[in-house]
Amino acid sequence: RELADIFTVSRTTAINAYRNLEQQGLVWTKVGSGTYVAQAGDLESLSEVPWPQLFTAYPQNPLGSMLRDLVSTPAPGTISLAAGMADPALYPMDVLTELFNNHLSKTAPEDFGHIPTEGYSPLRRAIAAMLNGKGIPASSENILTLSGSQQGLYLLSKVLLEPGDYVVMEAPTFIGAIQVFQAAGARVLSLPCSGKLSLELLEDFLIRYRPKLLYVIPTYQNPSGRVMPAQERQDLIKLAKRHRLVIVEDDPYSDLYYGEQPPQALKALDSYGGVIYLGTFSKILLPGLRIGYIAGPPVLINRLALEKQYIDLHSNNIAQWLVTMFLNEGKLPGHLTTVRREYKKRRDTMAKALQRLCVNEIDFTVPEGGFYFWCKLKQSGTSQRLLQEAAKNRISFVPGEAFQTVPTPDKEFRICFTTHNETVLLEGVQRLAKTLTQVTKK
Ligand code: PMP
Repeated sequence: RELADIFTVSRTTAINAYRNLEQQGLVWTKVGSGTYVAQAGDLESLSEVPWPQLFTAYPQNPLGSMLRDLVSTPAPGTISLAAGMADPALYPMDVLTELFNNHLSKTAPEDFGHIPTEGYSPLRRAIAAMLNGKGIPASSENILTLSGSQQGLYLLSKVLLEPGDYVVMEAPTFIGAIQVFQAAGARVLSLPCSGKLSLELLEDFLIRYRPKLLYVIPTYQNPSGRVMPAQERQDLIKLAKRHRLVIVEDDPYSDLYYGEQPPQALKALDSYGGVIYLGTFSKILLPGLRIGYIAGPPVLINRLALEKQYIDLHSNNIAQWLVTMFLNEGKLPGHLTTVRREYKKRRDTMAKALQRLCVNEIDFTVPEGGFYFWCKLKQSGTSQRLLQEAAKNRISFVPGEAFQTVPTPDKEFRICFTTHNETVLLEGVQRLAKTLTQVTKK
């Protein structure tokens, strides 16, 4: 008792003392059991490298590990509507084989040695020409080829962001962008994009916080499927020009329209040189190529290339060569026609099935393009809870919290309709409907 009177310490001090002893190998802890004085035999484990203690500080993964497991490693037999993926059955394998067979031997072997970080020059030219066709002025020096557009987001965060900088993002938005910007220590200001984008709120952010950049997915947004109307694009550019705001326009989906063509890219309207355009071949061709690109002013491209050099010197040139051949041999338009036709059918099938089987439990928007339906539970309960029940019925999707900067369970969820054929999609919606009924009855 006397000792206790003398040595009263806070709980944190005691925990820290235990940690310290543990790090020195003098005690060891068993979760749920207690802390024990280390015996000679226990010391063997000390020779193991304590990996977690060596890792640098990193923001917590916005997706809890339970959710991540449900989404990325579902039980066998699960129909996953979670991943945003093109259907492998639609990869143009025959065309790619033909390109390899007919053109590989005619290519100079040097093309497969080291090439400039900026990219394989025939590909930079082909991408610039493709963008010109979309009303985006660009030539080779405006293009940096990337190992997927995800790398572009990372490079931009390295080049433009310092801890504490503000960035503005739509809410909800692409998880990969949230993670990269947060890892750079940026503070995210959210611009709700469920209805009309509030340019008043954006201007307020610009004046109050002077954000480094605005990240937007104007066409078939991930996850909401929203398309920014033409007028809103013009108004946004006008506002951005007034404030010299850097806009990162991420555009993986605009070629995948199932009705009318979407409005022109923000980059095509860019009258002040502030829009950085990110594109990828992952959604329209095959994600395994890992080929994306950035279009921007040469001064930015050069700085990004320097940063990219630290990571991988240059993107894989066999993949770059293959995409070049695909573009230069005029194979893209035909392929796009095929996938648009097929995905439109799947979109319609999914819409009809959701309308027929789930309309009492959820609201949903029918997307005009892209990969996703964005759904919202009408009743009480969260989509995270729904996902747990769904796992029992072997169906999965991504709960809305994954697309938030501060993940909190909500009622929304994203389902991808492009990965599976119509038969599988129908079975998927049936399983979803069954889960919704079970959850509602509880
Ligand atoms: N941006 C958005 C909006 C995406 O949806 C994705 C893929 N899900 C990416 C970027 C990353 O694509 P990539 O495969 O080119 O890295």
